[in-house]
Amino acid sequence: MNNDIKEVLYSQEDIKAVAEKLGQEITKDYEGKNPIVICVLKGAILFMADIAREIKTYCELDFMDVSSYGDATESSGEVKIIKDLDTSVKDRHVLIIEDIIDTGRTLERLVDLLEHRNAASVKICTLLDKPERRVKGVSPDYVGFEVPNEFVVGYGLDYMGKYRNLPYVGILKPAVYENND
Ligand code: 5GP
Ligand code: MG
Ligand code: MG
Repeated sequence: MNNDIKEVLYSQEDIKAVAEKLGQEITKDYEGKNPIVICVLKGAILFMADIAREIKTYCELDFMDVSSYGDATESSGEVKIIKDLDTSVKDRHVLIIEDIIDTGRTLERLVDLLEHRNAASVKICTLLDKPERRVKGVSPDYVGFEVPNEFVVGYGLDYMGKYRNLPYVGILKPAVYENND
């Protein structure tokens, strides 16, 4: 599995440090607001666990699964809700936790949906941001790292369901997906 990685970009220690820093900002910004912190499945699960532990004020956790990718490496623009939230977001402050923002299509749809449901506010926290690739006007409020325009895996991010369990973020060797396309 490690042999499929061209280069490690962020180690577990790097990610822990960034989660601590973002957790402090989030704690300060959400003090007294009891936000709903939403993990976008499945990519954000590891980062969600890190961020949640660094939020030192009351909050609730919920989970949502949306699909935009299938098994390819390019976003389709179609977003389907696979699993919806258990909690109503009406009049609640919402913080979305994402693994990566690429074109921004998935997030744009998700933010629209939560605003349509009358959330009091909707903010985004993402482990990785690929600003070069943005086609939609979404911008994250909390960003772990800006990444180059390469296909990355690990720490929740997959390629065809694999590599989510890698304890770091790395660039997948192009040979791995070229062989499958
Ligand atoms: P967007 O709609 O912003 O283009 O795509 C967002 C979703 O695409 C992410 O939540 C993630 O599932 C997937 N994605 C985008 N870029 C990458 C990448 O470099 N690696 C992996 N594994 N998934 C990606
Ligand atoms: Mg995601
Ligand atoms: Mg994926």
